[in-house]
Amino acid sequence: LLYNQVQDLKGNIRVYCRVRPFLPKQSDRRSTVEHIGENGNIVIVDHNKQGKDARKIFAFNKVFGENTTQSEIFFDTQPLIRSVLDGYNVCVFAYGQTGSGKTYTMSGPDITAEETWGVNYRALNDLFEISQSRQGIISYEVSVQMIEIYNEQVRDLLVVDGSNRRLDIRNYSQLNGLNIPDASLVAVKCTKDVLELMKVGQGNRVVGATVLNERSSRSHSVLTIHVQGKELASGSKLRGCLHLVDLAGSERVDKSEATGDRLKEAQHINRSLSALGDVISALAQKSSHIPYRNSKLTQVLQDSLGGQAKTLMFVHLNPEANAFGETISTLKFAERVA
Ligand code: ADP
Ligand code: MG
Repeated sequence: LLYNQVQDLKGNIRVYCRVRPFLPKQSDRRSTVEHIGENGNIVIVDHNKQGKDARKIFAFNKVFGENTTQSEIFFDTQPLIRSVLDGYNVCVFAYGQTGSGKTYTMSGPDITAEETWGVNYRALNDLFEISQSRQGIISYEVSVQMIEIYNEQVRDLLVVDGSNRRLDIRNYSQLNGLNIPDASLVAVKCTKDVLELMKVGQGNRVVGATVLNERSSRSHSVLTIHVQGKELASGSKLRGCLHLVDLAGSERVDKSEATGDRLKEAQHINRSLSALGDVISALAQKSSHIPYRNSKLTQVLQDSLGGQAKTLMFVHLNPEANAFGETISTLKFAERVA
């Protein structure tokens, strides 16, 4: 194929860690992040302990400190994104507790300011640019789906009529590459088309929620970009898809405090995040049984996790000392999948 950046990638599963900066209003400025090494190591310190016991070291493929720009983050994501145009399936996940920067990485803080764009828009821009540059050699068609998984139910975020029906997951992959054939599939030609769609998607995410942030932190959102290419000279076809996943917040909910709906949500989230961890660690260990069936999330992504598919997990850390407990549990999750 034309650009084979895939060989740049060491394995099919990579785990990156991103530490967000302190937010302006925070008064406690003690950071749990004591050191970030060039080699992908990060040293975490517990301010309530002394000496050697207070420090723990974790290893990643890369660690991005608080001053990392959106464009630097994208630089290390780009080869993976581009492999979609060569027919690979790719998943990019944002994992972390609520407020750790998942949405910042995936979407960015301000859709109107291009330099702040996250991986989503940069990825689409890049795919459009490269497909343009291959014009006359390969013709590409790009289309987009956007779904939300909330309490183990899949909802279409691109419906225009606001209907709220639950969608089924099927394994139609051999047929047309769509695991959720009933979710709206919208052809896009340029980044502007995508920006319009995102507005629809974000709008639909709010339905039924009292506070936007509340709902978005308790559901997984999956933006899927389907690419079909046809090599003009040979007529041969290829298909790739990119899933960009902003996961639900990974924080543990205190069982003694949560009741009713809140408890149910928390249980669904815990279960689906551990199911995702189980699948990725089974893949990393080249296990013969990959437990895809244990959550809607892993069922939706089944064809893009494992085999030739490539996975990138961004693990987000909130550096605040009072987030120490969640930071450690986030790092333990990462350790399991790395
Ligand atoms: P999450 O999606 O994990 O709940 P957000 O992405 O909404 O977290 O981030 C929480 C807050 O921190 C937001 O105000 C966001 O703008 C800010 N933030 C997150 N990451 C960064 C970063 N890398 N640089 C600057 N601000 C950030
Ligand atoms: Mg978010």
